[in-house]
Amino acid sequence: MDEHVLLTYRRAEQVFVEGVGAEIRDDQGKVYLDFLSGIAVNALGHGHEGFVEAVRDQVGRLVHTSNLFRHPYTEAVAGRIARLTGLEACFFSNSGAEAVEAALKISRKHQRKLGRPERTGFVALEGSFHGRTMGALSVTHTEKYRAPFGPLLSGVTFVPVGDEAALESAIRAGQPAALILEPIQGESGVREVPAAFLKRARALCDETGTILIHDEVQTGCGRTGNFLAAESAGVRPDIVTLAKPIAAGLPMGVTVVAKALAGTLEPGDHGSTFAGGPLACRAALAFLTALEEGGLQEHVRARGQQLRKGLESIERDFPIVVELRGRGLIQAFALSRGAEDLVKDLYGRGLIVNKTGGDVIRLLPPYVITSAQIARGLELLREGLEALGRR
Ligand code: PLP
Repeated sequence: MDEHVLLTYRRAEQVFVEGVGAEIRDDQGKVYLDFLSGIAVNALGHGHEGFVEAVRDQVGRLVHTSNLFRHPYTEAVAGRIARLTGLEACFFSNSGAEAVEAALKISRKHQRKLGRPERTGFVALEGSFHGRTMGALSVTHTEKYRAPFGPLLSGVTFVPVGDEAALESAIRAGQPAALILEPIQGESGVREVPAAFLKRARALCDETGTILIHDEVQTGCGRTGNFLAAESAGVRPDIVTLAKPIAAGLPMGVTVVAKALAGTLEPGDHGSTFAGGPLACRAALAFLTALEEGGLQEHVRARGQQLRKGLESIERDFPIVVELRGRGLIQAFALSRGAEDLVKDLYGRGLIVNKTGGDVIRLLPPYVITSAQIARGLELLREGLEALGRR
């Protein structure tokens, strides 16, 4: 089946053909409850009316212009994202990795502009995942992703999550261009970075002229219950990267910068042929409208609390569940064993979840998931854990 496709993913056997809301159907007619959203992408679920209408309409009008010309939707999306993040201006791209690349390049250029061309390095966190392109990979910690592709960018220092002393010495001694971190590390198992550490990072960056980049590709755009995950810690970065759900399933990455960085890139410095096109921007507007005006952000909070309560009860009943993580609609539970088996078993029961960062089951339902569907998902998780063995 995959004769002419490079095997960069170990794919499951299901062939999906259509979806409605939080349900997705395979070519055998079997319906699954989607607790993964295409890895945090399909925030509006499948076939969302506002999204479908906007995209259908735009496909018939104008799909692509290139960035040599304007279309009516770029500023509308950028303005909303600037307001929602409390930052100033957006660079559009097509993926999370590209959003990170732009953040790294803007950081280096900014330091150069300030007369500090030697500040080219980066500090990142152990356990980080920022994407697969060369720059993003250079600040990604996981050795198995890095090892085959070196040499990567030099001058990258990794510090353990929560180790404020290590962070301080890496920043003061290394004088990097920027510190990049995910407020919740999604790919390494939904590991929350402590609020005190985020605050300390902000203070250290302010003191040393280091740019603070938050990578909210997975946690941003409302998934935690706030537009940005770091809002709950009261920390605002200089740059935030967004992608996954921002265009509700169409490719879009966004690098959002503070006012002080808004003039860093000049025409010709950076770009992307497809980025921020009319189709992706109409999709992003449909997403942002649903989030803000359709009451979806409040819905995420309520469903997130329901999910957490259900998982707490599961944790009490199943000693094999050793830790709960995350908030809103990015949650996870760690098992003492058997995560891979559980994922397969749950596919059989009609629930799509994902294993990440060891024996950890990650749950990323679409924002539109109903209360009954959360309850059903929890029931299926219980059945799967019962089959796996309580201990
Ligand atoms: N940054 C974070 C925090 C991510 O979770 C991901 C993907 O999982 C990326 C960057 C890379 O995004 P993409 O796969 O769209 O390039």
